[in-house]
Amino acid sequence: MPEGPSILHLKNRLQRFKGKTVSEASGYSEMDKSAIDYIKIFDIDAYGKNLLFVFKDFFVGVHLGLFGSMLVNKRKKVNASFSLHFPHSEINFYVAHPKLYEGKPTDYFNFKTDILKEEFDGEFVLSTLQQHYADQMIGDALLDQELFTGVGNIIRIEALYRAKINPDSPVKNIPEKKLVYLIETVVNYAYEFLDQLKTDEVKEKTLIYGKKICPKDKTELIIDEMGKVKRKTYVCPKCQKMYS
Ligand SMILES: [Zn+2]
Repeated sequence: MPEGPSILHLKNRLQRFKGKTVSEASGYSEMDKSAIDYIKIFDIDAYGKNLLFVFKDFFVGVHLGLFGSMLVNKRKKVNASFSLHFPHSEINFYVAHPKLYEGKPTDYFNFKTDILKEEFDGEFVLSTLQQHYADQMIGDALLDQELFTGVGNIIRIEALYRAKINPDSPVKNIPEKKLVYLIETVVNYAYEFLDQLKTDEVKEKTLIYGKKICPKDKTELIIDEMGKVKRKTYVCPKCQKMYS
């Protein structure tokens, strides 16, 4: 499943299309595509798990969901859910969900919570976490896209392991300096993840995601669907402290 860094990686691959004119949009998605007719792309951006194609008065956010993918100048045998056509090239999305928004991205999205944006504000995320997520388990809060925009399951698992926190710990029981460290770890790991995408080594370089034993003490990992989010979770019962 694409996480924030995967979307930023796609965005970086698409930068040559910035300033180009889209001749038409197609695909089986229900979004009204009639406004995309010989229109210039002002910017291509990313927000969390959304890829953004910004036009003059509106933009299209493409969410890749669990199984979405993108191809440039190539096609799959199945139909694309959304495609942008240029005179000599095309961008095709499969099993992705495009949505048209009037106005600009900052009218809708809070860049302060996006772990890969320059505008990311760790203090804002910390205070929101402490005030509004106090009773939630940290493993659940990390997947909330309103708070940790761009965090997916791999980042969640790896950041909690590196910060030595059990995902079932309620936020209110975790010391503030631990939360600060966790937020820094999320961001640092997201940039590592982005770097590893260039050589396709993300899954190879994880410490516990997709593994069976802890690399530090060789303890067998707990692998289970944990928390309210019911996502597959990996935990080292020795290294990761339960704050209860
Ligand atoms: Zn361990």
